[in-house]
Amino acid sequence: METLGAALARTARLLAARHESARLDAEVLLAHALGRNRAYLYGHSDEPLAAETGARLAALAARRAGGEPVAYLVGRREFWSLDLEVTPGTLIPRPETETLVAGALDRIPADARLRVADLGTGSGAVALALARERPHAFVVGVERSARAIAVAAANVRRLAPRRVRLLQGDWCEPFAEQSLDVVVANPPYVAEGDPHLERGDAAFEPREALAGGPDGLQAIRRIARSAPARLRPGGWLLLEHGEDQGPRVRETLCRFGYRDVRTLADLAGRDRVTEGHRP
Ligand code: GLN
Repeated sequence: METLGAALARTARLLAARHESARLDAEVLLAHALGRNRAYLYGHSDEPLAAETGARLAALAARRAGGEPVAYLVGRREFWSLDLEVTPGTLIPRPETETLVAGALDRIPADARLRVADLGTGSGAVALALARERPHAFVVGVERSARAIAVAAANVRRLAPRRVRLLQGDWCEPFAEQSLDVVVANPPYVAEGDPHLERGDAAFEPREALAGGPDGLQAIRRIARSAPARLRPGGWLLLEHGEDQGPRVRETLCRFGYRDVRTLADLAGRDRVTEGHRP
């Protein structure tokens, strides 16, 4: 009978043709097929692989070889140390979005009872990270997609019950005038027709969570235009965007009257988030 170690090596070889992350992917899929965490594999590589588990692994590996994102195959992705449920109805949270969380935390003092909105919350990743770090903040996640909001609701129930409120709606629309202190969003910002949309995980993700119109900035402009009326004077807007969009997003925020506009870089040093506050 094949051991876990041998099955892992074989699966990694199978995935290596298409995926740079083949070894890691194989570990995540095998652990999932076993109903264990990845750490389990290190101490148990000599354990025999049960036939049923082997069949589950083969099915998962075949789908991965066909390009499906690992996060969708296992229904999970970690973000800001939170174990989030994700489905093909939500964007897969990405490490670079931790820059948005870190930037927002700088605008939300630890003991302040601020009202914070995460627009287009998807799986709830950013809203939950902010709620986790700022127990006194009142965090609302807004999402247009019913499929995504169901996933966000499950994540809120499991990870931070009653700490994040969810509203179905379009960007800032659910909010009354001057009702928010901080608005954050990771909106769709990839330009329509960008080959990136057809590659890797993106090809399987909801298009409406990724594609931001002809120049990628359609959602960013809408949010920048509508947020000032909902923000209290001095309130901050933080928007994630593509690495080449910093100058255009700064210009957009300046045009709509935001002050102290500046761009934050992600851990790789790329422009990633632009912020500004209303006067
Ligand atoms: N950073 C994502 C990507 O490059 C895009 C996410 C988004 O559009 N919000 O795939």
